Amino acid sequence: MKVDLTFKRGEFQLAAQVELNGGVTGICGPSGVGKSTFLALLAGLLRPNTGTLNFSGVDLIDTQRDIFVPAWKRHFGLVFQNGMLFPHLSVRDNLLYGFNRLNPNERHLDLKTVTALLEIEPLLQRRPDQLSGGERQRVALGRALLYSPRLLLLDEPLSSLDDRLKQQILPFLKRVKEETRIPMIYVTHAQAEVDYLADRVLKMEDGRLGE
Ligand code: ADP
Ligand code: MG
Repeated sequence: MKVDLTFKRGEFQLAAQVELNGGVTGICGPSGVGKSTFLALLAGLLRPNTGTLNFSGVDLIDTQRDIFVPAWKRHFGLVFQNGMLFPHLSVRDNLLYGFNRLNPNERHLDLKTVTALLEIEPLLQRRPDQLSGGERQRVALGRALLYSPRLLLLDEPLSSLDDRLKQQILPFLKRVKEETRIPMIYVTHAQAEVDYLADRVLKMEDGRLGE
C-alpha cells in the first residue's frame, strides 16, 4: 500500500507518506497525535485534503484526479477500542453481519474456523451486554475477520482492557496474524503491544508519521 496524504481539521494537520507491505505494521504514539484520524483516512471514513492512496495496484484516493473509493468498496476490516458490537444482535449474528453481505466466493473464512481460532464458540447465543470486555474484543475481531477483509485496521483494540486481559488477548492477535496472513495496521499508544505483534513499527508524532 502506498500512502501520500495530507489532512487538516482546525489546528490539527496530518501528513503521511509511507509505503506499507504485508504483515503487521504497528503505529505507535501518544493520545491526540492523529492515529485514529490516519486510520479513518485509510478506511475511507474521512476525506483527505490532498494526496493519493494506492492499495494492491488500485488507486483508492487521488485528489487531483477526483478519485475517492467509498469505505464499503475498499473492503477493509475495522476493530475499535470498545468493540462497537450491535447491542440488539446475538454474538452469532454480530459475527455474521459482514459475512452475510459477501458473495459466497468472497468468503475466505467461515464461522467455525473463526470461533475456534478466537475460542468464542461458547458465546454464540449471548448478547454483547452479557460479555466481558475481553470477550467483546474477541467477538469484534471475529466479526472483522469473517468479513474477509483485504486489510485489517485495529484502533487501540486492547486499550479498554486491564493488563491481565491484554496478556490474554495478545496471543489471539498473534494467532490471527500467523494463521490468516491478512495484512494489519495496528494502532496503539502501548509500545509493548507492537513490540510483540508487529513486523514493522512506525511512530506518529504531531500528525506526522515516521520510522
Ligand atoms: P489519536 O487517535 O492519536 O489519539 P486523533 O486522530 O483522535 O488522535 O486526533 C487527532 C487530533 O484531531 C486531536 O487534536 C483531536 O483533538 C482532533 N480530533 C479528533 N477527532 C475530532 C473530531 N471529530 N472533530 C474535531 N477534532 C477532532
Ligand atoms: Mg485514537
